[in-house]
Amino acid sequence: MKKDNLWLGYTGTDKKNMNEVCERYKECLDKGKTERECASLAVELAEEKGYKELYGTLERGEAIKAGDKLYVLQMNKSVALFQIGRKPISEGMKILGAHMDSPRIDVKQNPVYEKEGFAYFDTHYYGGIKKYQWTAIPLALHGVIAKKDGTTVRVSIGEKEEDPVFVITDLLVHLAGEQMAKKAAEVVTGENLDLLIGNCPLEQNKELEKEEKEALKANILKILSETYGVEEEDFLSAELEIVPAGKARDLGLDRSMILAYGQDDRICSFTSLFAMLDLADEITDTTLCCLLVDKEEIGSVGATGMESRFFENAVAELVAATERDSQLLVRRALSNSMMLSSDVSAGYDPLYASAFEKNNAAFLAKGLTFNKYTGSRGKSGSNDANAEYIAELRRIMDNAGITYQFAELGKVDVGGGGTIAYIMAKYGMNVIDSGVAVLNMHAPYEVSSKADVYEAVRGYTAFLKA
Ligand code: MN
Ligand code: MN
Repeated sequence: MKKDNLWLGYTGTDKKNMNEVCERYKECLDKGKTERECASLAVELAEEKGYKELYGTLERGEAIKAGDKLYVLQMNKSVALFQIGRKPISEGMKILGAHMDSPRIDVKQNPVYEKEGFAYFDTHYYGGIKKYQWTAIPLALHGVIAKKDGTTVRVSIGEKEEDPVFVITDLLVHLAGEQMAKKAAEVVTGENLDLLIGNCPLEQNKELEKEEKEALKANILKILSETYGVEEEDFLSAELEIVPAGKARDLGLDRSMILAYGQDDRICSFTSLFAMLDLADEITDTTLCCLLVDKEEIGSVGATGMESRFFENAVAELVAATERDSQLLVRRALSNSMMLSSDVSAGYDPLYASAFEKNNAAFLAKGLTFNKYTGSRGKSGSNDANAEYIAELRRIMDNAGITYQFAELGKVDVGGGGTIAYIMAKYGMNVIDSGVAVLNMHAPYEVSSKADVYEAVRGYTAFLKA
């Protein structure tokens, strides 16, 4: 069962609204190229809509009531937004969830080295990437350097027109006979994925004489010291991420698509956020939640990943503040909730048709994608959404006139993947994998359809309002 291409059904007003949503989306992509940048952007946008920080609000002893809008920022990397409804939270919430971390290349803790005339940052990649895709393209450096004095320096180099950029070099084709015969997974090794950062040695002077061999590295450290006031040891407490440089762009002569870094999973994060924030002026019956988390690409582990209890803790605080301090009520709040756990879906690519099973593939420009299950090799590791819940979602989406499709991630036994849905399912809540189809997932630049971005916002809004 395939629905029509969204473009053919859109009116002029739809297209105008779609373009507005997509401009807003592209702007967010440009401002949020790391999970930290996305988290602070989400907080900034939420505060503009009247959201207040939950723990500060509790500390000030302010009462929490229907219509209140609260957020929790977990270690500057994950965000949970709550819009309190009229009904007790223990009767359940409506939750939109997605992740804000994206595949990238991280700078190691002892990163700076020089070798035969070049200075480099040593790196360790983050998430699943085809390493060869990350060579010979302009790269930017984003992140923080936390210093012992308690201050944190923000770094963003490579985005402004006048900024320098960086690159990971590749071997010229003329000499690559041996390399080209290798398996794609071995063409570029993890340890060779180092970032070229300099070629100019520090001018010779007396103080350098004893370490003349390290003049390139010395020059890099001098620049860092002058620009950011940091020294080499400060890299020990730094989180520097290497991402493709440049902005999100319209794609195609018809401008129907978007080409940008990090659309997995910011395409679902920002569309969920837009849907949530656009309801800020309404007082709803059910408490609404938008949960934007870190670390999905490496298994949702750590204090800022979905496996962390920070979300459950926030719900416990809210239940205690609005009902009473009861673990049982917290469990009820979670198990009575329903959630759209959104992540990108593998969009059908006609040039790689053999990886897909066409009747159960997600197509670009055909609307919000639902995956009853994900996983691999016999659905292993998957959250398998309940049929009754899916029927309810179909009713909600059909009533609101939302275009959607049901899909799997590729052919059976070809591969697979996981999301955060199974973690939320532990609470016994109804949760389904949903999201937006993209091409080139996990490549430096991923492709999405503008129509799907718009339809996602409409679909999430329908879910929150139903
Ligand atoms: Mn994802
Ligand atoms: Mn991913």
